[in-house]
Amino acid sequence: MKKAIAHAARGRRLCKRIMRAALCSLTVSALLVPASVHAAPDKPLLAFAARIAGDEARTRIVIDFEDKPEFAIHYVTAPERVVIDLPATAFGFAAEDLKARGLFSDIRFGAMDDTSARIVLTAKRPVRLGLAEVQEGENGEFRLVLDAEMATPELFANLVREQRWGDEQENATDEPVVAADENVFTVALDAGHGGIDTGAIGTATKTPEKSITLSFARALAEQLNKQPGTRAILTRDTDKFLSLSERVTLARQAKADLFISLHADTLSQKDIRGATVYTLSDRASDRMAENLAARENLSDQLAGFSLKDEPPEVADILLDLTRRETQAFSIALAGNVLNSFEGQVGLINNAHRHAGFQVLKAPDIPSVLLELGFLSNPEDEKLLLDETWRAKVNGLLVDAVSRYKDRAVANGG
Ligand SMILES: [Zn+2]
Repeated sequence: MKKAIAHAARGRRLCKRIMRAALCSLTVSALLVPASVHAAPDKPLLAFAARIAGDEARTRIVIDFEDKPEFAIHYVTAPERVVIDLPATAFGFAAEDLKARGLFSDIRFGAMDDTSARIVLTAKRPVRLGLAEVQEGENGEFRLVLDAEMATPELFANLVREQRWGDEQENATDEPVVAADENVFTVALDAGHGGIDTGAIGTATKTPEKSITLSFARALAEQLNKQPGTRAILTRDTDKFLSLSERVTLARQAKADLFISLHADTLSQKDIRGATVYTLSDRASDRMAENLAARENLSDQLAGFSLKDEPPEVADILLDLTRRETQAFSIALAGNVLNSFEGQVGLINNAHRHAGFQVLKAPDIPSVLLELGFLSNPEDEKLLLDETWRAKVNGLLVDAVSRYKDRAVANGG
């Protein structure tokens, strides 16, 4: 009896949701029969709600089903598409709820024949599904969750080549894009700005920040790669634009253990000079940090991305715990960098600051943003362009990373 009441309540909720689709009476009657009957193969599955969120680097699609859907994923080329095959399904949500955005330029869904239905996601670039699974929702519904992320053309070609078509219901595997060696400590170096986004401009030499950050990142990668058991990867190694989300996604795909974003910005107070290490925080430590984060976060907008395309914050208690743990490691890393710099490299007052930098938001990778100096200060600008100074700073950063790594490995992290 309890079950019947629950079913009826669920029916009313569903009813509201799918009123637009005029499937109400069908749903209620379907819900009032025992579960084992309404899962019969001759009844189509009901997909009663759908939503899509995300950006050009990753996009999440969630579709709510009344019953657990069996599904199969395939990848198709020219143009790149992801195909989701389902049993016969009644799509009881408005087409607008699954309007293409983020990685996808077009989304279609409908019946293939009496016993099967299909969803076709046409991508703007090569993609892969990092996650494709059915989760049970709080109200007894079943959610098909598809997390798409950008992929290299090679990886997409592999997915197409290695897949099997046929009767078997195969789901996307969760293999990493870059084959990661668990024993290698991976550091993602992120040269700030790039391409259309020049970043700050040197007052004396007019050198753009994007060139300085790239030179630093390349040289630091070279030094880190000489360390046994350490591997450095660059989010970009040419003068190209990357959205902030792409930078984070690239680091995550490389299974990075650390993320270091390199910058050399300007300040209106030209006399301020020295290095600063930033970690992520909802609340900025001070006005300067707040302004700087606001300017850095404008990068995506500057390149024509819309700010409202940011991926949604996922409310998840486990993710929250991960974030907190990651935050502690980020702060430890910042401490190691400052210890290395102390007495060797000029630092601003209170050299560890924090603010809401988008690029530091990987929930599972300890991340810092390093302002190496200020291009608004002529002395700093001179140092930033000096090969010897760069080599010295990079040497100190290698020390800091090594000490961090030794402790992380000792603690089994
Ligand atoms: Zn910058």
